Amino acid sequence: MDIYSAIKNESIRAGILRSWNNLHNAVEQNLERFPFLRDFAKDVKEAKLEIAKNYEYWIDKAAKALEDAGATVYFAENAEKARKIAGEIVGSGKIVVKAKSMVSEEIHLREYLQQLGNEVWETDLGELIIQLANDKPMHIVIPALHYSEQQVAEILKKIGIEGRNAEEMAKGVRVFMREKFKNADVGISGCNAFSVENARVFLIENEGNIRLSTSLPKTYIALISIDKILPDDILALKSVIVQAAFFGTFPPGYINVNRPVAGQEMHAIFIDNGRSSTEFVEQLSCVRCGRCQLECPIFQLSGNIWGGSVYGGPMGMGWSAITGEMTENAFLSCLCSKCKHVCPMYIDIPEIIRKIRIKIGKG
Ligand code: SF4
Repeated sequence: MDIYSAIKNESIRAGILRSWNNLHNAVEQNLERFPFLRDFAKDVKEAKLEIAKNYEYWIDKAAKALEDAGATVYFAENAEKARKIAGEIVGSGKIVVKAKSMVSEEIHLREYLQQLGNEVWETDLGELIIQLANDKPMHIVIPALHYSEQQVAEILKKIGIEGRNAEEMAKGVRVFMREKFKNADVGISGCNAFSVENARVFLIENEGNIRLSTSLPKTYIALISIDKILPDDILALKSVIVQAAFFGTFPPGYINVNRPVAGQEMHAIFIDNGRSSTEFVEQLSCVRCGRCQLECPIFQLSGNIWGGSVYGGPMGMGWSAITGEMTENAFLSCLCSKCKHVCPMYIDIPEIIRKIRIKIGKG
């Protein structure tokens, strides 16, 4: 779908409005009741930008901590290398359960593992809907926000799930997924924050599927983009709390804290893919709460279609540029600066967009 079709697509606008109605006031209330959330965000931003000055040092430290804890560690400088490493770990003919992970979208991992002959399942309900519909996530946290209950009912029929309402459908998915979790050979997750101090992968969720994806299979792969590295547990915890609170859920539903455990093989892949060499350094402090997307007037019209092939909306301009995709969609921004003011990190997204425009203009 191109941006002009997206603007004409009423279900995108309706879905975003529905989500905005559910979440806008929740974020405002979180910030009013818990003003320390802004201090947490400041601490996390400072730490992330400090680490970005010397990723090499911090990746070495993080890798050593994980190896000492018993994990096998890899480094991928780009998406192709990351896919290849994951593909070699998984092999073929396996059942793979995946937690929702934008970095896995960034490296197109699901499609690659399927091409290798694996059965790969997204275990987050929204991502499963996107997988079955062969669609693109429409928001970084709420991927299937543009589908109505009736549309979801049609999509779920593809895997034999029938339901008269959301509750029945969710129950059907739980039963379907339980079999996949039980039989999965490999579990894959991203990482919301990584603590070097204790080699811990922090992951937040609401559904419980991440816990099952990362703890039941005998082999677990954690995809850790290097912008997620933080020095210690406190900062990692602050980071996931800020991410959840600025999305609209505080306290977060569940916080998983993963590290190597007896009886499971853990592989950690640190992924650079443009991060260590980018000029858009401030974007690296993004915690991916998705608030700038829901609040942006252009995103409200066009959803995630406004942006790059993976990352869309205001944050998507910077992330697409970092990961090697400079899109002319940058010229459609109205530069109103709302994104900057709603962002927990006060990332100057309009300035990033201006720079992208200049770069595109220079060809
Ligand atoms: S740019 Fe800011 S508001 Fe947007 S997703 Fe990142 S942290 Fe959240």
